[in-house]
Amino acid sequence: MLERGPRSSCVCATLDDRAVLAMGGELDEQFFETVGNAGDHGGDQWWLHLGRCAACGQHWLIGQEERIYDCICLRRLSFQEAEEITGRGEWPDDFQTYEALLRLGCAQGWTVTFLDRRSGPLIDTAKDLRASRPEIGDAEIGALLGLTAKHAAALFRPEAPLRRLYRRLTNTGS
Ligand SMILES: [Zn+2]
Repeated sequence: MLERGPRSSCVCATLDDRAVLAMGGELDEQFFETVGNAGDHGGDQWWLHLGRCAACGQHWLIGQEERIYDCICLRRLSFQEAEEITGRGEWPDDFQTYEALLRLGCAQGWTVTFLDRRSGPLIDTAKDLRASRPEIGDAEIGALLGLTAKHAAALFRPEAPLRRLYRRLTNTGS
């Protein structure tokens, strides 16, 4: 299992125990060159996976945030933690909420621009955040999504028909 073949040039040892990679970036590509999916959490935590490196045998907890920041959140797992996942279906507490992933994405300081102020992922994510933590405020949702509080609040209201028409027209071709 731990034999080192020609693919031993993995990036596992160079990463911190907790890391956030930009999806589609160079490091992300190098990481997934050797780390394969060893299990999906599934259910409500559709973003959560167990990864295992084919080169060095390292297990990783992988949270994929692909709605807002497009980032891969990683935590290095001990062999025992990986066993608990595969054997008993017991996952660590990390990345259990989508909000946790967004906080990590947000902390990277990347700029996110939505051409469509009412894009589907934006609305879905705002609604999910409130569904999983009803007391979360508009300003907090806005901060997590890189929006103003006013913009975040508007995601929960139906759009006026004329405004919708205008938005559709102005989004054409983008
Ligand atoms: Zn590795």
